[in-house]
Amino acid sequence: MKTQLLHLVAAASLISVVPCLLAQDAAKPKPEDTEVWKPVPPIITPGATNSAPPSDAIILFDGKNQDAWVSAQDHSPAQWVVGDGILTVSKARGAGNIETKEKFKDYQLHVEFRIPENITGSGQARGNSGVFLASTGPGDDGYEMQVLDSYNNTTYVNGQAASIYKQSPPLVNSARKPGEWQSYDIIWTAPTFNADGSVKTPAFVTAFDNGVLVQNHFQLTGQTLYVGKPFYKAYDRAPIKLQAHGDKSEPLSFRNIWVRALD
Ligand code: MG
Repeated sequence: MKTQLLHLVAAASLISVVPCLLAQDAAKPKPEDTEVWKPVPPIITPGATNSAPPSDAIILFDGKNQDAWVSAQDHSPAQWVVGDGILTVSKARGAGNIETKEKFKDYQLHVEFRIPENITGSGQARGNSGVFLASTGPGDDGYEMQVLDSYNNTTYVNGQAASIYKQSPPLVNSARKPGEWQSYDIIWTAPTFNADGSVKTPAFVTAFDNGVLVQNHFQLTGQTLYVGKPFYKAYDRAPIKLQAHGDKSEPLSFRNIWVRALD
């Protein structure tokens, strides 16, 4: 009799405890609470090497022609030199800077360049070119990531290779010797503007020079000016521009240029 009573008491106490346990269970965080299943990131095929274009890239230069490019001055066909799978700057009169036909907002860009082995000159006049992340018009300076021979070549650090010109020196100097191919991988977040032309969000750049981080989410203060303080000027989408610098050193070459639009 006493045992039966004990069983009854035990059962009763269990009945009162179970809902309490269930409630506790419901409140306890579960691993799946923080799992996100949708949207599923699109599947793309990575390139065979880290520099080869993935399947969703827009090819800007694949070694064959400069059809994706026009003169930045008058939008006539680009007149640089294509041969042996590379694109070489033309310093001929009238060739000038070239820019993409297509306009971009935010993107990931891969570009390879080679300073000639026999490069001459010094400072800013030694293999100077540039990747303009947004070419906002012939009258504008735009936003330049500097291309220069920075292997044993002293210049102002915010103007050396992989700098955001006159705004941000690279975190390290990862330049290769003249004659060797080098690469930039750049993530560009374009500035956005309010209807009145004021800055809504500034531009940011993250970049790798020869695979090494050189710009880490750097916030630009405006266009990269040769003279004066940077300022923003409203634009929407813009081409990517390559510079034919007026220095007297031997012209450099580009190859394997591709971009992935991020907007
Ligand atoms: Mg330059």
